Amino acid sequence: MTATATRVLVLNSGSSSLKYQLLDMHDASRLAVGLVERIGEETSRLVHTPLATGGAKRETEGAMADHDAALKAVAAELAADGLGLDSPQLAAIGHRVVHGGLKFTAPTVIDDAVLTEIERLVPVAPLHNPANITGIRTARALRPDLPQVAVFDTAFHTTMPEYAARYAIDVATADAHRIRRYGFHGTSHAYVSRKTAALLGKDPSEVNVIVLHLGNGASASAVAGGRCVDTSMGLTPLEGLVMGTRSGDIDPAVTFHLKRVAGMSEDEVDELLNKKSGLIGLCGDNDMREIRRRIDEGDDRAKLAFDIYIHRLKKYLGAYTAVLGRVDAVAFTAGVGENAAPVREAAIAGLAEMGMSVDADRNAVRSDEPRLISPEDSRVAVAVVPTDEELEIAQQTYALVSA
Ligand code: AMP
Repeated sequence: MTATATRVLVLNSGSSSLKYQLLDMHDASRLAVGLVERIGEETSRLVHTPLATGGAKRETEGAMADHDAALKAVAAELAADGLGLDSPQLAAIGHRVVHGGLKFTAPTVIDDAVLTEIERLVPVAPLHNPANITGIRTARALRPDLPQVAVFDTAFHTTMPEYAARYAIDVATADAHRIRRYGFHGTSHAYVSRKTAALLGKDPSEVNVIVLHLGNGASASAVAGGRCVDTSMGLTPLEGLVMGTRSGDIDPAVTFHLKRVAGMSEDEVDELLNKKSGLIGLCGDNDMREIRRRIDEGDDRAKLAFDIYIHRLKKYLGAYTAVLGRVDAVAFTAGVGENAAPVREAAIAGLAEMGMSVDADRNAVRSDEPRLISPEDSRVAVAVVPTDEELEIAQQTYALVSA
């Protein structure tokens, strides 16, 4: 890495998508952001926004057969803005990797052995790790000389005590198949819990925070003095809160019932719980804006879906208050948490005995900045703290390669 190399390319590879951001860590500014969708289909689409040049958003459609073709198209767009991947200013590529198991507790420079280990985790993350691996292979082929760093969604949760991470099932069976609670969205929980401490003017080591990451996927975490002590997602991102399309917590016997009584196959049950449950299963919509609109029109199904979503959130707030013993702050983040004031109001309503309340005027403010929504004298600070997983990945990547 040269002394002037301060740029980091962040790649988030999904099964048929590739999201990217090029950041300059000199001032944490974004130089370009974009997304390739429908990789492998006839009409893949690349949307590229060159923020550094102030240029207009560019959209290209055309077949991109695989991630290799997609990344090459992204590289061409970046080169057209004078931000090519061959630039000596590029310090590293940071990859979002969903599952790091127990082995990866921190961001890691990728070599062949690390890649093999990430592959070994495919059985516990069959939906996510294969796409991440493809992204890594593609980027390594394009710039073999450049440090590539894996930043794991699970890493922040590896500090969970054993009694929080273990399921109460036969230990030998659990260990043989690496079955335990890993948690996800860790990059967001790490970033938001730190930002929340900063909002309170404190060091992360001084505060206990409950983070509610409410996006299409949703998870809660209990963070004590900067360390995660519990989180709502488990072996997979299916456990915990009610989500856009996932059920969250459910009696595992429901799955036996669906197979034995309803005659569904393993894959059908998987699809039902991951893709056709949660808000979409309950009311046919997974976008909170649409659900609120329907509630305003008097739609009972939408109202019930909302109430189930809120009830689950309250249960986790209660549980994590007990786990932490003392709560200094509750932080709402991600698409729903940052934008849906009615969700924040409803989740906190009735929790005054737990020291939590929301000020209606503060809650109505729209802003991209971290902000308090609790009254001045609230025992627990309730906050909206926008997440920024790409910035966190870039920071962790840059810290590692510039150390
Ligand atoms: P994320 O996964 O963090 O991108 O969050 C996506 C979800 O955020 C969407 O499915 C919506 O439910 C929700 N969302 C985004 N914008 C708003 C908004 N203005 N009001 C309510 N919900 C929103």
